[in-house]
Amino acid sequence: MAKHILIFGPPGAGKGTFSSQILKVFPEINHISTGDIFRENLKNQTPLGLKAKDYMDKGELVPDSLTNELVKDKLETNVGKLWLLDGYPRNLKQAGFLDEITNIDLFLLLEVSRDIITKRILGRYSCKSCGAIYNKYTLPPKKEGICDNCGAEIKFEQRSDDNEETLKNRLDAYEKNAKPIIKYYKKKKLLKKVNAENTLELTGDQIKSILEI
Ligand SMILES: [Zn+2]
Repeated sequence: MAKHILIFGPPGAGKGTFSSQILKVFPEINHISTGDIFRENLKNQTPLGLKAKDYMDKGELVPDSLTNELVKDKLETNVGKLWLLDGYPRNLKQAGFLDEITNIDLFLLLEVSRDIITKRILGRYSCKSCGAIYNKYTLPPKKEGICDNCGAEIKFEQRSDDNEETLKNRLDAYEKNAKPIIKYYKKKKLLKKVNAENTLELTGDQIKSILEI
């Protein structure tokens, strides 16, 4: 079985959902996400976290070199363990860096059509009273206009920053960026594509076979 796994895919591919499904089948796998690494280091005010905060406060991107150090630091605390890394690498330089500090067994690429991504992201809304999450297309409340969870009245409202134009730009940017990374892992024969349109229907055995190498 793969010991060191990368999970990769466009926004809305369901990386978080699929990661939790994997962790349910293999509780011994440590889920590592760059988002969590940043939050942890900022919260604990580590030297690397403070450096990252400087960039963020100035509204600048955290440079690769610093992100690399943060990831390295985290992986060093996970030596000998199984892990699933989410949110890294984001470019070829980072992929190269990863190869210098560890070995990767599997690169999981979640594939979802643009149509489904668009519905997942643009259809999202939540109950203002209890926070329950719905989707206009894929997960409407059982009774139209009424929250399943708390009974409050709810209606679909699009978030102002989520529209087709901005989403299209995000997806175009992802594809441009992802291409060389996917090619890199394909060349190393580590690429495995997963149809992520319905991962919730995958059985434990199916998930096990995905992680087999
Ligand atoms: Zn509610």
